[in-house]
Amino acid sequence: MAPDPDCIFCKIVQGEIPSTTLYTDDRVIAFEDISPSAPVHLVVIPVDHVTFLTGLDESSEALIGHMTLVAANLAVEQGINDSGYRLVINQGTDAGQMVDHLHMHLLGGRPLGGLAT
Ligand code: 5GP
Ligand code: ZN
Repeated sequence: MAPDPDCIFCKIVQGEIPSTTLYTDDRVIAFEDISPSAPVHLVVIPVDHVTFLTGLDESSEALIGHMTLVAANLAVEQGINDSGYRLVINQGTDAGQMVDHLHMHLLGGRPLGGLAT
């Protein structure tokens, strides 16, 4: 999907908004969350402007798998593989999704508590 000129994460992909990027390839980029909820809080996003999980189809299975693998590798790099971490995709209003560009949070570096409050 073409970049959305109003999308913050597309602007990060395009380099129009600065970010601390830790990983990039032709399909995904990963960067530090601007407002971290844990000592390690990274966001892995598709390079393409994919809005929601509900916008995906079977052709996107590899993309989601790749996002997960990149996040798992980053967890090792960040030194939180042994202590543990959480991968989160917020989908829609009740989940608190704020940015309408699909993204996977990688959270760790402290005990993360309950799954939902
Ligand atoms: P959501 O609630 O949509 O799942 O998470 C969106 C995340 O994007 C939030 O954790 C928020 O802090 C992060 N975020 C929003 N704007 C920016 C930005 O301009 N730069 C970076 N690095 N993160 C952002
Ligand atoms: Zn976007």
